Parts: sequence; structure tokens; C-alpha cells
Amino acid sequence: MSQDRQLEALSAVVQEGFPSAVADLSRLVRIPSVSWPAFDERHVEESAAAVASLLEELGIFESVTVSSAPKADASGQGKPAVLATRPARRGRPTVLLYAHHDVQPPGDEGEWDSPAFEPTLRGDRLYGRGSADDKAGVMAHVAAIRALRETLGDDFDLGITVFIEGEEEAGSPSFGNFLRQHREQLASDVIVVADSDNWSIDTPSLTVSLRGNVAFALEVRTLAHASHSGMFGGAVPDAMMALVRILASFHDEVGAVAIEGLTTAPLETPADDESRLRDDAGLLDGVTPVGRGNILSRVWAQPAVTVTGIDAPSVANASNTLLPVARARVSVRIAPGQDAQEAYAAIQRHIERHTPFGAQVSLAHPELGNPFLVDTSGWAVAEARAAMADAWGADAVLAGVGGSIPFIADLVDEFPSAQILVTGVEDPETRAHSPNESLHLGVLRRAILTEALLLSRLNTRDDLG
Ligand SMILES: [Zn+2]
Repeated sequence: MSQDRQLEALSAVVQEGFPSAVADLSRLVRIPSVSWPAFDERHVEESAAAVASLLEELGIFESVTVSSAPKADASGQGKPAVLATRPARRGRPTVLLYAHHDVQPPGDEGEWDSPAFEPTLRGDRLYGRGSADDKAGVMAHVAAIRALRETLGDDFDLGITVFIEGEEEAGSPSFGNFLRQHREQLASDVIVVADSDNWSIDTPSLTVSLRGNVAFALEVRTLAHASHSGMFGGAVPDAMMALVRILASFHDEVGAVAIEGLTTAPLETPADDESRLRDDAGLLDGVTPVGRGNILSRVWAQPAVTVTGIDAPSVANASNTLLPVARARVSVRIAPGQDAQEAYAAIQRHIERHTPFGAQVSLAHPELGNPFLVDTSGWAVAEARAAMADAWGADAVLAGVGGSIPFIADLVDEFPSAQILVTGVEDPETRAHSPNESLHLGVLRRAILTEALLLSRLNTRDDLG
């Protein structure tokens, strides 16, 4: 089939199947599959089962299973993952399609304009927790395979493995063990990770770099017990005073990270203007951006430090006492190219040097994820860019992403010869992880068509070198 005919045929079937793809996605969004420890894990089991039956219904897999692996820290089993396999034939490649079926907690329900787990269509967007991140990634795979089956039948040569994880939002604690347990089934030539962003609703991105992350709890103690702030204040350091000074030392006067030993990646970043940043991030009038250099370099190539939580008495309960202890959660994004362990050591040294008044400081619950940088010269990147250009009618931006997908480093370690394509269904207005998360339906349709084209072309590819 000529490429034009192939594009036409797949566009038609993707269009025709789109309402049922959105209906299936809506059913997945109704399952509150939050993988965090405090949430009911039966919902994660239910969403794994729902994904498994969507994959079984495709009728192209040799096996579809739901299973879990032990966590890396041996504290129990991980959350259920779905694995579907179909071996390649006649020398064709095998593609591994990844997404995750777990979601972030809803956060403050009062901030949602419609209930978090009730998929709601407003304009071109489907609102709901997981509507984009990453249940739309799951549906992009399912719907692309449906389109492939409709145009080729079920007798095709491409090997397809689908791996839908159930604990990505909880830091993928059993991911490494799962990969090792299912090494042979997961081995592939190309890995498509559908869990990232697009440049806009009209322009796709292929994500080629990701920052890593280092998050930890920081505890500061200065006193054996709380004391009256009037009796001792002025002579005795309270824990909050010491904590605030440590936190303030993380940035310089323009808000750039001031931790020695955190590196910057030598990435070329497209020029971007401040107004897009202002709009996308919702900067208030008069509030200036922080950091130095090209705006995208700040987000893609430089480190960032964010204090994401502080344990202290609430304002309503604030009494006139000097606090003996205060805690903060600190989330650090590290540049592509830096090792997470090395970055964590640099941060620890910085905190030691910037602790005032001899306060007692401890760091706990570290979560480390390595960054990622793609070699863009492989044939899979060329195929993905061609499929995106055809499906979207616009060339893909080779993008960095400021966020982290730590498990990608595990994939690279375990399958060093596979080419990794990081795609996605999000756009700048998605607000993944926040209230009012949403998916743009046009983006979903183009993402399905892109993947259907990619699979269809790989099905006839014989040069895997
Ligand atoms: Zn995700």
C-alpha cells in the first residue's frame, strides 16, 4: 500500500473508532486507581483488570496477564501491571508499548470544576483525573492496535508487547524487578513510552530529554521541647527559623539554583518567549519568572528546587511557641546527564554547609530518579517523526521535558539496545497532577493515528540494524 493510501485508510478507521475510544477512556477514568499507599488498592486492581480486558478484546495477543513483582526495597509486592505479548514473525521488529493505568490522587476536590473521577466533556477537552496522564496513553495504544487490526486483519508480522504499569505515580517501586522477571517477554527493538507532552494542540513533540529527580524529607531540630516565644524568643533559635534559612539557601537572588555540584546539560533549546510561559504557568500580574538563560533551557537543561510541603502548626492552630522541630519535603529536578545519586550527595553537602545555629538536621525518605537523553540518530526516531508529521500535518519538536520519568532509566539499563520513543497525549493545558486535569480530544485522535501509522510501517520494516 502506498504511504498516502495507508494514511488515508488509517485516518478513516481511527476517525470511525474514535467515539468508542473516548467511551473506553471514560470508563477507565471512572476507576479511581490511585497507587499511593493511603488509597484503596482494590481500585488499582480494578483498573488493571479493565485494561487487561481491553487488550484481550483486541484478539491479537498470544497472552494477556495481570501480575505484580516485589518492590525494590523488599517491603512487599508492587501494584498490578498488565502485560500482553505477541511475538514477531519473519524478521519483523517487536515494539513494546508502555503506559500506566494508575493516577495521581485527586487533591482538593473543591478545586475541581467537575468531579475528579467523573469524565466530563467541556468543549474539546475531556476532564478527569487520568483523562490524560496516563489513561489516554493506555487508550492511544489500544486504539492504534484496533486501527491496525481493522486495516491488516489479525494476521500480521509485527511483534507487539503492551506493558501497562500500575504504580508510576508512586515512583514505580517494583518496576526494576518486573523488568527482570519478564525480561524475555519485554525484549524489543523499539519502546514507545506514551506518557509525555506535546508542544501544542497542533504541534507534536517527541521527547528526547528528561530531567531526573531527587526528593527527600528534611527535618530540623533545635529544642528539646516547645517554649513560650515571649520568654525565649530573641535568644533561642526555633526550628522553623533554621529550616527557612536552609530552604532560602537553595536559590540565589534571581531564583536560580545555588547548589554547588548540580550540573546543567548542554542542550540546544528552541527560543521561547516569556508570554507563553506566563500563560501556561498562570503567572500572576507583576510576578516575574526566576532563573537565568533561555526560558526552555531553565526547564529542560537546568536543575530546579521546589519545596513541596512543610510540616508546621496550621495558621489556625498557631500558638505563641518556639517550634522544636520543623520538616519540609524538598523536590529537586536534576539536569539530563547528571547521576541522581551524585546530585543527592551534592545537595547533602550543601545543606550541611548552610545549616545555621548548629541545628540538628536529618534527611529521610529519599526518592531518586535518573534523567534521560535520547540518541536521536536511530531509525525509530526517524519513523516516529515521519508518522507524527503525517498524522498531525506538522513537524515534531524534539523536546526536553522538565519533569521526570524515572523508570525510563531502568528501561535503558535493562534493554540497552532498544530505541526509546517518548511520545504522549498531553498538551500545555493538560494540568496533569493538578485539579481539572484534561485531555484535548484532537490530540488524542492524532496520537492514535500517529501510533497506528508507526505500527503499520514497522510491520513492513526488515532493516533493524
Ligand atoms: Zn504519567
